[in-house]
Amino acid sequence: MNLADSGVLAAVLNARGYRPAETEAEADIIILNTCSVREKAEDRVFGRLGELSGLKNMVPGKKFAVVGCMAQRLGERIVDKAPFVDIVLGTDQMFNLPEILEKSNGTPLVHTEFGHENIGVIAPVRDSRFAAYATISRGCGNFCTYCIVPYVRGEERSYPAQEIVNQVRNFVSDGVLEIMLLGQNVNSYRDNELAFADLLKKIAGETDIKRMRFMTSHPKDLSDELIATMASEPKIMAHLHLPLQSGSDRILRRMGRGYTLEHYRHLVDKLRAVQADISLTTDLIVGFPSESEEEFNLTLTAVEKIKFDSAFMFRYSPREGTAAYRFDDDVPDPVKIRRLTKLINLQKKISYEKNQEEIGRIRSVLVDGFSRRSNALLKGKTEGYKTILFAGEPSLLGTIQNIRVTSADSWTLHGDREH
Ligand code: SAH
Ligand code: SF4
Repeated sequence: MNLADSGVLAAVLNARGYRPAETEAEADIIILNTCSVREKAEDRVFGRLGELSGLKNMVPGKKFAVVGCMAQRLGERIVDKAPFVDIVLGTDQMFNLPEILEKSNGTPLVHTEFGHENIGVIAPVRDSRFAAYATISRGCGNFCTYCIVPYVRGEERSYPAQEIVNQVRNFVSDGVLEIMLLGQNVNSYRDNELAFADLLKKIAGETDIKRMRFMTSHPKDLSDELIATMASEPKIMAHLHLPLQSGSDRILRRMGRGYTLEHYRHLVDKLRAVQADISLTTDLIVGFPSESEEEFNLTLTAVEKIKFDSAFMFRYSPREGTAAYRFDDDVPDPVKIRRLTKLINLQKKISYEKNQEEIGRIRSVLVDGFSRRSNALLKGKTEGYKTILFAGEPSLLGTIQNIRVTSADSWTLHGDREH
């Protein structure tokens, strides 16, 4: 979501004549778009600001802006800690950066009011020429007890379906083949009678986009209709990111997630019944307040049984203002670290096994870049959102190719082009 927002912000700045600088040293403005989800993310922003502060005097009038979730959460507190910061703009204010820059005159400007962000229909700057993000909803109304997102991104609101369709059409005419629809919980998307599955069908039917993906899905709102739509609509890629968070029902209840492990497993069974080789990825938290060793083991068992293709795994991080902040953060750090390491090792083994199963299969791959190591190797994503490398000519960039998987480790597949 932050990456997508950075693309929109870059477009807003481009439209006003700003251009990306080659280096931080020569930049007139340094912008940090921030995350608040875990304390570590915020610590890194202050660390980065410290590193960059020495540049402040190298370009006369050089400005620092901190925008996004952490700006929303801390507001003035950012300037207290880093007085050389000129501009702090929260999540709904960040797209006003060009106007605020014009007003900036040495006294820090801090804006964190909620209200409609004023983006209009602007084509975001993209990292990839062939894949794009489209934000379909902002904010979140779920208030999982550990999570800061509803406080820093405000209440959930969906963009009108027609606007999204128009945006996808614009992407297509700009050469985009694959779209990733984004929301904190896409499953609760609504535009009057239109639910998320209807939006997917509308985009698939009314645009020439070749491939569609979305994230994130909340298990409590994953409808049978969405499962059926994923299976029946060939444009929708066979990948679902479905955060489980914990394998213990007591912890899930304390997290306010609104489902049990049994419900989650039932969803997985339904998904696999209609799309046997759907790729499933998840988010998991270890060391939530009062999580016992047995409860942590339930997460390990769930991971072993469900067999996710990959997972984002985190240590619980208390966030001021959330409901769980009032719980005793009683799992000591060394225990959290031990649990996380154990979980990561287990998942790594499962990812490896899952990827071995890919060997011999032919995958449909959107070719969108070169391997980081070698320009002789092209890089792309399979239907299941796995990175695959294969030998090929640069002229294949921006095409969809059939690639036979020949080898794999836990993170990457290798393959050969099928002729
Ligand atoms: N809207 C998405 C998640 C957004 S945050 C969803 O509901 O799935 C991404 C992930 O960060 C979460 O799924 C969760 O696993 C993790 N996370 C959020 N708050 C956290 C916290 N306080 N400590 C540790 N991990 C957290
Ligand atoms: Fe946070 Fe829960 Fe909303 Fe995801 S659904 S953003 S975890 S409150």
